[in-house]
Amino acid sequence: MSHQAKKKFGQNFLRDKNLLQKIVRESHIEDKHVIEIGPGQGALTGFLASSAKAVIAFEIDTSLKPILDNFERIYPNLKVIYGDFLDYDLSLFNEEMHVVANVPYYITTPILFKLLESNQIKSASLMIQREVCDRLLATPSSKQYNALSIILQYHAEVHKMMDVKRHMFQPKPNVDSAVIRIVKRNQALLDNNNEIKFLRMVKEAFRQKRKTLTNNWHQAFQVSKTEIESFLVSQGFHKDVRAESLTKEDFMKLAGAWLYD
Ligand code: SAM
Repeated sequence: MSHQAKKKFGQNFLRDKNLLQKIVRESHIEDKHVIEIGPGQGALTGFLASSAKAVIAFEIDTSLKPILDNFERIYPNLKVIYGDFLDYDLSLFNEEMHVVANVPYYITTPILFKLLESNQIKSASLMIQREVCDRLLATPSSKQYNALSIILQYHAEVHKMMDVKRHMFQPKPNVDSAVIRIVKRNQALLDNNNEIKFLRMVKEAFRQKRKTLTNNWHQAFQVSKTEIESFLVSQGFHKDVRAESLTKEDFMKLAGAWLYD
């Protein structure tokens, strides 16, 4: 069965069996319930179903159904759901779920947020653009450091599993890739109230990267600049500090002491 790759669905298929097996091996899915986002022509799906207890695969492109029907016949522990993964309510799963996917790059960020927000998802191994991977793993004061890297590292232990060159895909994309491994923390680092403050403060801190923290928070929280400056100084920071020089722990400390909504 032949299938013409569709650009609009971010279709870049993998073929290399060694690479696929390595991703599955290092995802530790034996006896686990797995979600695959975008099984495509099933290259990864077969290895996942051979290793996991059960696999649910979400595929938006219904023209892949004849190919994926075959996989469902071969692997009774595989179920393919046709539709947009982003529309699916993950709280419907009763089990702890683990995601392994070569994701469509045009929706990498919404996928990440969905996985982070879901209590059902415990880990994820995701093939993403290398540049995005480097941004997610960025450390303070680097150019790539941003709100999402802090939020991700707050919710999970994260590391790069491997780099993957563009020629490993068919058709070949314009960018190199990497597999990022995300393992959610068992316990939240902050209580619920402080976590809500922390997440908002981080997002607002990076809203305009060239501005100081005081300026960004002044706009977002409608608090005077003088009040924010004295708050920062009282917590041991310079009044003109910028978001990119603060660690996740710094933001957690500031959220714990922050009195504004
Ligand atoms: N897993 C296959 C592989 O590694 O060869 C295909 C990966 S390809 C990069 C991304 C897949 O995600 C495609 O099959 C595409 O049709 C599917 N896809 C794109 N957007 C999607 C969405 N919103 N929900 C579910 N699947 C989607």
